[in-house]
Amino acid sequence: MVSARPMSDMEVFGLVGNPVGHSLSPIIHEAAYDEAGIEARYVTFEVNPDDLDAAIGGAEALGLRGLNVTIPFKRDVLGLVDPEPLAERIGAVNTIAFDPARGRPRGYNTDADGAVRALTSHGVSLAGATAVVVGAGGAGRAIAIGLADAGATIRITNRTESRARDVAATVEATVDDARESGSWAEEPAADVATRASAHPLDSLPTLLDDADVLVNATSVGMGEDASPVPRAVLHEDLVVMDAVYRPLETRLLREADAAGARTIDGAWMLLYQASAAFERWFDELAPEEAMNEALRQALAQ
Ligand code: NAP
Repeated sequence: MVSARPMSDMEVFGLVGNPVGHSLSPIIHEAAYDEAGIEARYVTFEVNPDDLDAAIGGAEALGLRGLNVTIPFKRDVLGLVDPEPLAERIGAVNTIAFDPARGRPRGYNTDADGAVRALTSHGVSLAGATAVVVGAGGAGRAIAIGLADAGATIRITNRTESRARDVAATVEATVDDARESGSWAEEPAADVATRASAHPLDSLPTLLDDADVLVNATSVGMGEDASPVPRAVLHEDLVVMDAVYRPLETRLLREADAAGARTIDGAWMLLYQASAAFERWFDELAPEEAMNEALRQALAQ
């Protein structure tokens, strides 16, 4: 018989995805355990897509406390857990908390929180801001919904425009409920009317003209010197955040900096989605400074 808890006091957490080889999550989370004096390990599991159901059930049976979920499973895992309303709206789960005594595993999405906190921790006020989100894949959905919940009006654009329309429709249909249920990440100004609209990629010049925030949520720039946004449309009144963190200084951020914009690299979102996961698992504040230090060190190598 398999016990519901490991024999030692050592807690086990992990990441399921495919591939997971280059993940920075073990480094970030183990830095947090060390700093907080928690006896835990964080391991990666490369799961065959046909085995996802068995992997999640097996992790619970083996007594794991929690899992992060990455590409390509964030959407598939939704049906295997009890998702929080935000994860349901986003349509993706990136964090699972197991507690067999309380029933089905809980599913969270901390990418939205990660994006919002990356911006607000740099002094960006989202209530009443206009944010342009480029990309409507998993990250784009989470970022657009998170920023809208925090009070920003969203203009979303994507190579495949129908996906952007789908995200805008979700924001429009659900943001008022989120506001009423108190899930706003920061208090909106009283007169904020959050709106979301979808646009073709070639309308970026108009979209950015009077915008406050630009977020790249596409994979363009990952491991390559490319940008999804033409250099000429960047301006000094923008805060520009990139979800891409390899390289840390993407072409978009380099060009935004040259245009006089403020820039926020993708490691901040990575840090804060991890600290939000830590907080779901342990119900205590994450030691973000130690986590950030470990992450920055790993990225510098
Ligand atoms: P995804 O679901 O596969 O979506 C990819 C997105 O990129 C889609 O919007 C796609 O447009 C767009 N795209 C891909 N190639 C393109 C091109 N050549 N031109 C224009 N658009 C293109 O991936 P994801 O999970 O959203 O991840 C997107 C990026 O965010 C990745 O680099 C990932 O590493 C990063 N990310 C970072 C964090 C963090 O914490 N910093 C968290 C999550 C993700 P179509 O819809 O038209 O295909």
